[in-house]
Amino acid sequence: MKYLDEFADPVLAGRLIEQIKARATRQWTLMEVCGGQTHSIIRNGIDILLRGAVEFIHGPGCPVCVTPLEMIDRSLEIAARPEVIFCSFGDMLRVPGSGRDLFQVKAAGGDVRVVYSPLDAVRIAAENPGREVVFFGVGFETTAPANAMAVVAARQRGLRNFSMLVSHVRVPPAITAVMESPRCRVEGFLAAGHVCTVMGTDEYGPLVERFGVPIVVTGFEPLDLLEGVRQTVELLEAGTPALRNAYPRAVSAAGNPAAQHVLADVFEVCDRKWRGIGDIPASGWRLADAWADLDASRRFAVDDLVVEESPDCRAGDVLQGHLKPSQCPAFGTLCTPRTPLGATMVSSEGACAAYYAFRRLEVPASA
Ligand code: SF4
Repeated sequence: MKYLDEFADPVLAGRLIEQIKARATRQWTLMEVCGGQTHSIIRNGIDILLRGAVEFIHGPGCPVCVTPLEMIDRSLEIAARPEVIFCSFGDMLRVPGSGRDLFQVKAAGGDVRVVYSPLDAVRIAAENPGREVVFFGVGFETTAPANAMAVVAARQRGLRNFSMLVSHVRVPPAITAVMESPRCRVEGFLAAGHVCTVMGTDEYGPLVERFGVPIVVTGFEPLDLLEGVRQTVELLEAGTPALRNAYPRAVSAAGNPAAQHVLADVFEVCDRKWRGIGDIPASGWRLADAWADLDASRRFAVDDLVVEESPDCRAGDVLQGHLKPSQCPAFGTLCTPRTPLGATMVSSEGACAAYYAFRRLEVPASA
């Protein structure tokens, strides 16, 4: 197959669904780690088509959703300063902090700009030497290399007015945290294909061994997802947990060495708090000491903020697969994309946003 729509071919999809249902002797519980996969599953009704064979529970793989509240509040404080041009990808702007979001800071006069690449922020810094330009660097292994490159580019250009507020997170420690939870129901993982294009698949073998669950690296189109599910169910039925790559057109075992090299140069692994989940050891990246002068959290004194999460938001349970979004009492009532209580309702990869966009008229499904 060469074209994207071929990966949504309904005839081929129907065949894969039949194969999965024929092979499954019971309903298996799979977690798709990535919020992009969650949206594809819900948008295409894959969870409905596979009911009885597979229950999908949605994982913590939405970078906007897991950016800690402290970091959101820090971004709001920095963005409100008159000397700052604050640059961010668009889906961070509606993420609620303790009392407001970046849109509200912008409405109140803050110079908040949406960019489509971190290099746009570097360019803005070059064009505005009298202002401080801060880029909000969030995301998993997928976006981290481009953000690392922006840091390198800013230094190469000698820009002293560019810095980055870094809140990067890593997938393997998140899988570990999910599996170590006493409430964990996950029997197999669909791993995020785009993360593996960067990091390869080698990090996942030890997780399969340690937890005895199959992990299948999976893409994002309907046939990609169904093939990933087919292989996972096959492994579960055979009782042979293993690591498989169902996305070979994009993913190799070694990943992208050039991207890994820049990550290792610019970032160092750190413990990171995940919004709604808590601290996960070694789950984040921060700028390494050699790049500390470009670290916005050091340049701006914004560490002693008091943060306050909405008591009505159950996003932590949603992100760990303990709760379907439509089972949250605030879903669609107190919490909508216009009045979000949690980031999962506004992120383009958020599970609550997926259910709101495609399922809000349904009677809540049982977990
Ligand atoms: S529906 Fe809203 S309040 Fe409920 S978990 Fe999702 S984001 Fe939080």
